Amino acid sequence: MPLHKGPEQPDKRPATVNPFYGQANPVGGMTEAPPQHRLPDGPLPPSTAYQLVHDELMLDGNSRLNLATFVTTWMEPQARVLMDECSDKNMIDKDEYPRTAELERRCVAMLADLWNAPDPSAAVGCSTTGSSEACMLAGMALKRRWTKRNADRYPGARPNLVMGVNVQVCWDKFCNFWEVEPRLVPMEGDRFHLDPQAAAELCDENTIGVVGILGSTFDGSYEPIAELCAALNELQSRTGLDIPVHVDGASGAMVAPFLDEDLVWDFRLPRVSSINTSGHKYGLVYPGVGWALWRSDAELPEELVFRVNYLGGDMPTFALNFSRPGAQVVAQYYTFLRLGREGYRAVQQTTRDVAMGLAERVEALGDFRLLTRGDQLPVFAFTTVPDITSYDVFDVSRRMRERGWLLPAYTFPENRQDLSVLRVVCRNGFSSDLAELFVEDLGSLLPELRQQQHPLARDKGAATGFHH
Ligand SMILES: *Cc1c(COP(=O)(O)O)cnc(C)c1O
Repeated sequence: MPLHKGPEQPDKRPATVNPFYGQANPVGGMTEAPPQHRLPDGPLPPSTAYQLVHDELMLDGNSRLNLATFVTTWMEPQARVLMDECSDKNMIDKDEYPRTAELERRCVAMLADLWNAPDPSAAVGCSTTGSSEACMLAGMALKRRWTKRNADRYPGARPNLVMGVNVQVCWDKFCNFWEVEPRLVPMEGDRFHLDPQAAAELCDENTIGVVGILGSTFDGSYEPIAELCAALNELQSRTGLDIPVHVDGASGAMVAPFLDEDLVWDFRLPRVSSINTSGHKYGLVYPGVGWALWRSDAELPEELVFRVNYLGGDMPTFALNFSRPGAQVVAQYYTFLRLGREGYRAVQQTTRDVAMGLAERVEALGDFRLLTRGDQLPVFAFTTVPDITSYDVFDVSRRMRERGWLLPAYTFPENRQDLSVLRVVCRNGFSSDLAELFVEDLGSLLPELRQQQHPLARDKGAATGFHH
């Protein structure tokens, strides 16, 4: 969320509104537009207010053509109805809305089972506004466990968290807000995510945990979680350091259980102490819902859990927010019931098929080299082949925007800042028909781009205003 300042320019109004919106009433009808940067003096009729807001929002993009976001942009009408019915329910009000609280509890139980908690009834977890909040909570639990183990040295010793340089920005925020030193494993050559051995080497007695990502926002690749745990097991047998792993499964924790059943990345690994996911990514719910789960309450220090009784009842909660809408949690439960394992498998497989097919067709255009192929997360990144010098990925992004496609271009972090890529995130609702249109549009731009003298969109990053 941008941090907003006051009005950029004072209202230079009065402007007028369409007389129809003011009900075309020449006597009482409103034709002067209300101010935009201070509260209007008086009320408007609801139809006029609706029309004004609605019209302005027409200039927002078409979310179905947005290939930058991981977040759900399509749900069924029945889900919308349920969400509508719950839009007045406050998630924190567990006593007033015990059934909503119960649906949240069931979602946690279903996820504990899906992620192979050895004893699903011992696993603890909660809903959040998204993975960012879930990661904050998981990071806080890691930090608190470390301070308890090191009570004799803390404060004084500075805690650190080990992770790949490709982590999502929420981990930079966690380290900044909670004063934990980030220790980043760099990218190296064609390895665009964490290396288990390098991660283990960064650990010391002040390491609160290691974050593994399933899958990386940069290129959709899964980090090797089992190998990471093995490297940390080896570290423990050598040094005695027992470092827990948190899996940031914002996307992949709702993909791998259905499509990669043989991949061992979850609570089957004893070292994995907590996992988060975004219900609003491949959990297939509109924003914002996320989930954080711990293997058992031994991983979640109890002093972090609050009980408040001033809404009645005495339900333990772990959250940064207090009030929060219940609709998304209900929609998550609906989607779990609606799809079941088989349904999720079918939806995610279709999305992965679209991604892999599209990646192949992009490669076949000849101008591009694939970094990933959409066979882990249904996401792939690609860049121009070396002999393309007349244009770059930023030009492609800009030109695709003219056709309505939001196709982000960005440079990689330190060590591979020379590498700039385009990334396609396939989601449920991005059909093979749309993929076909996408590749046609991309292909039809290339002859013109090849005739450029040199790349034009030099203002990297600003070219697409892209944030992970
Ligand atoms: C999207 C994402 C996040 C942040 O999730 P939100 O639900 O948007 O808060 C964190 N980690 C990874 C790996 C992500 O892909």
